Amino acid sequence: MEAVRLVILGRQGSGKGTQCARLVATYGPVHVSTGDMLRSAVEEGTDLGRRAGALVDAGELVPDDVMIGIVAERLAKQDVVDHGFLLDGFPRTPAQADALGEIMGDAGLARAVNIDVPVDEATDRMLSRARTDDTEEAIRRRLQLYESTTEPLLAWFEEHGLLSVVDGLGTEDEVFERLRTVVEGAPA
Ligand code: AMP
Repeated sequence: MEAVRLVILGRQGSGKGTQCARLVATYGPVHVSTGDMLRSAVEEGTDLGRRAGALVDAGELVPDDVMIGIVAERLAKQDVVDHGFLLDGFPRTPAQADALGEIMGDAGLARAVNIDVPVDEATDRMLSRARTDDTEEAIRRRLQLYESTTEPLLAWFEEHGLLSVVDGLGTEDEVFERLRTVVEGAPA
């Protein structure tokens, strides 16, 4: 089987984090999480961290050109070339998706998989593990923000014939089996 080269999408409460870990354990791609990369840059106080810190804290998007540069650099590293990638948190905008196409170049565009969990179920899951300051209203607001930024992206991947939707309801094992089907290219 070829190396996994996949963009993973899914709202908070979709189980994306758990499923990313299982995909990495099973297929060995490098988990490239732009949120993690930005948070460590902030912690380490790098140039990038100083520029992006306030935006990350406020939950606002870091400018496209900055993000595209970071991801292009990361995807060019040998570990990614050898083992493939699971791209998490990027692209966040259609401009980033266009840039990803250019970054991939001859290797071709990466497929995107959306772990689909209805908003009400995602809200319930998040409420059940929420901290006390995490009100239902705040959770709903975060999910809405995700919706408005992700909707155009889903449309982008769909238009390019690159979107797979996986039902995120059911047990972890059930969801993982559905992901395996997408990753291994077997008929659904
Ligand atoms: P995440 O952990 O993916 O939710 O990312 C945490 C924060 O990092 C986001 O709220 C943004 O401020 C920033 N961020 C992560 N990925 C991107 C991206 N692709 N484009 C712009 N900002 C991003």
